[in-house]
Amino acid sequence: MSRFLNEKYQKLEAYTPGEQPRDMKYIKLNTNESPYPPSQGVLDAVNSIEAANLRLYSDPECKNLKKAIAELYGVETDNIYLSNGSDDILNFSFMAFAGNGVKAAFPEISYGFYKVYAELYGLDYVKIPLTEDFSVNPQDYNSLNCFIVIANPNAPTGKTISKDDIIGILESNPYNVVLIDEAYVDFGGESVYPLIKEYKNLLVVQTFSKSRSMAGARLGFAFGDKELISDLNKIKYSTNPYNINRLTLVAGEAAIKENEYYMENCKKIIATRDYTVEELKKLSFDVIDSKANFVFAKNCTVSGQYLYESLKSKGILVRHFSDEKIKDYIRITIGAREEMEAFIATVKTVLEEVK
Ligand code: PMP
Repeated sequence: MSRFLNEKYQKLEAYTPGEQPRDMKYIKLNTNESPYPPSQGVLDAVNSIEAANLRLYSDPECKNLKKAIAELYGVETDNIYLSNGSDDILNFSFMAFAGNGVKAAFPEISYGFYKVYAELYGLDYVKIPLTEDFSVNPQDYNSLNCFIVIANPNAPTGKTISKDDIIGILESNPYNVVLIDEAYVDFGGESVYPLIKEYKNLLVVQTFSKSRSMAGARLGFAFGDKELISDLNKIKYSTNPYNINRLTLVAGEAAIKENEYYMENCKKIIATRDYTVEELKKLSFDVIDSKANFVFAKNCTVSGQYLYESLKSKGILVRHFSDEKIKDYIRITIGAREEMEAFIATVKTVLEEVK
């Protein structure tokens, strides 16, 4: 018990971010960052006179960055919302679109933050089980009359649902917001952002943290009908209008202008993912088919916890979740080819040791 914390937060279980240990040099395959650096334009932008401009507040409307995103994606600037990482957008969306009788609904196994936000705002929520093979069953979300949040691809499985399935969910929940979290969409998924023109209840959330190598800059963006974007702006202007700093704004703009570089990196990561899956299968792993920059895999003989710990002791960080249903698995971020070769070699050593 804390002496000062508001009663309603006393039992809140906060989100646990992936570890960032500093005790030795690790190959970091635990937080789905990109192995590739930001593009040259981003480096130039943050080293420029913009640093001197830090004495001035950032543009709360983020006009230049919105314009660049609008051009690249072929939408209007008032269909775009920008925030301090996509976590910020998820946070605001749980605040804005559920409560007062509207429950939140999301898959039982998904991004751990959904439950934290639901509890933070004291919402009633339903966790919808995945099927036996860890798929989201779209029918389970039809006519729920809840604020629905689905990661597509899902985390930590990397599995996707189709555009048609999402249309079914949107059409059967016309009075509620359906948020599709596309943090990992650039690694082989199909974005549903073009549907915002037709479906006023659709909010599509993306991030610069994964495919655009800017996790440390904290920049997320969302597509939606004007009305939804203006709802989110109301929350932003009621909390922190300057929630994206100047350096991140110029970095984001440069990244959008150098989109090709990032899409090439995604192709490399997809090829490295194929290599990793193939090698893991040779080592008796069950690997779930992933369209993200990570794979979720379990070994037939060694437990997830053991693999996680042995790999860590040998300088490789992966993510392990203690949740009963997924405790046999580890989630492995796809790094550069050399990192994945080192990972596979280390897994071989670990498996040899237990023989
Ligand atoms: N959604 C999902 C599914 C994620 O895995 C993450 C990354 N942890 C996020 C959103 C948040 O990413 P960010 O705040 O860095 O944009």
